[in-house]
Amino acid sequence: MTTDWRPGPHDRRVGIGWDSHRLVEGRAFILGGIEIPSPVGLHGHSDADVLAHAITDAILGAAGLGDIGDHFPDTDAAFEGADSIALLKDVLAKVRALGWEIDNVDSTVVAERPKLGPAKATIQASLAEALGVPVHAVGVKASTGEGLGFVGRGEGVAALAVAQLRGPVA
Ligand code: MG
Repeated sequence: MTTDWRPGPHDRRVGIGWDSHRLVEGRAFILGGIEIPSPVGLHGHSDADVLAHAITDAILGAAGLGDIGDHFPDTDAAFEGADSIALLKDVLAKVRALGWEIDNVDSTVVAERPKLGPAKATIQASLAEALGVPVHAVGVKASTGEGLGFVGRGEGVAALAVAQLRGPVA
């Protein structure tokens, strides 16, 4: 998915992203590029970094460039075990090539386990570095499922994100 349209200096776009992955034993728990000590990890074709995936989709959505599956199909062996932060950086390069810059990203991770509070600041710093923005331009919030649904039962983790892009300074 591509576009020839280029943003002007006053252009702003927002995008949303959502992702969820199943919790399984025998996998590392990677969130925002950070490995969190946990007896269970997220299952997926890549490293299953649910937060990086939601943010990547938010950025792609804002730029009108489709979704993460369009760019990195899970049927492609090249992306097996892929570092999702590297995929995020690949998408950033694509949107920056069109003239976009990241204004800010906000996100919420919904997980019953593991407890994410202690890692939030580390994840925020990791994402800010990956996105090439200051830490105050990245929101990382943690919520639980209050015992409800697949998250509340501890079967999986979900993440939501929004991203705002801005056009180049004139
Ligand atoms: Mg995913």
